[in-house]
This record gives sequence, C-alpha cells and structure tokens, in this order.
Amino acid sequence: MLPLSHPDRIEPDSPQPRRSLRPSQPSAADVLRYGERYADLRDRRLAHTLIIEDAVEEREEISAHERITCHVHRRWSHECIASPMHIIPVTGHRWCRRCEAEASVAVDEVTGSVTVVCTRCRQALETAATRQIIRTCRASLAAAHESRRARVQAQDSAAAAA
Ligand SMILES: [Zn+2]
Ligand SMILES: [Zn+2]
Repeated sequence: MLPLSHPDRIEPDSPQPRRSLRPSQPSAADVLRYGERYADLRDRRLAHTLIIEDAVEEREEISAHERITCHVHRRWSHECIASPMHIIPVTGHRWCRRCEAEASVAVDEVTGSVTVVCTRCRQALETAATRQIIRTCRASLAAAHESRRARVQAQDSAAAAA
C-alpha cells in the first residue's frame, strides 16, 4: 500500500477498484522539480500524474514498471507500451522466454481489456511481468478516460458560462 493512496478518488464504475489512485495534484515542490519536462502537454492530468510518478519513483516508493505513465514517452502507459523500448528481455516485460521472442500488447480502449501475446507461439503470457503490464495498462486506461471526461466537463461548463 502506497502512503500516497487516496481511496476517496476511486469511483464506483472504475474498472480497477482495487488499485489506489495517486492524488491528481502534485506538490508545488514536485512541479518545480519535474514539471518543466511536461510543461507543453495539453492533457494537464497526464502532466500532473507524470510529475507525481517521477517524484514517487525517485523516492523509490514505486518502480518504473508500476507506473501508469511513461517518463520516456510522456504518455499514459497503455499508449506507448507497443514501443520497442518497452521490450525488456531481462525482466520478462513483453518477452516470451520459451521462444525468446517479443510479445505484443493489445489494448481495447472500449472494453478496457489488455492482452499480452507472444509474436511467435501466439500464446498469452502468464508471468508476473505480464500481469504487471496488464495491471498498469488497465489503470492508465482508466485514468486517461477519467481525464478525458473531466476535460469534456470543463469545456461544457465553460461553454455554459459563456
Ligand atoms: Zn513509453
Ligand atoms: Zn512464445
């Protein structure tokens, strides 16, 4: 359990109710320290989550594999998991050890399902690293949806006020 967990932010319709989401607002000190890299991102919730995760990762409270955002690509995890940079044979992330071949990740944005399949044997991988990919991609998918919903709501209320 992370010390930063915010159980009050979990919504009843969240596909990942067990995962404790981190707070959506980074501290001013963390924005100062990590924010510049994400200053141009239009999705501010994404930027805030990147800043929070950079900070907690540097404090060694989570590993890079547990993040729902990607520091390298500056995206939600499910959006760049297809990049070759996320194939890590040493840890077994997107890697079938039996075939020594890479695995592909299919993310269904509508149903929220995430599957990891070896490109050679076509089997779904059943490893701890794979379960971690599925967990983080589902959580990032949910966070991205929540962010989109919040932006639409903000646009609607801005239009209503105009
Ligand atoms: Zn990435
Ligand atoms: Zn295989």
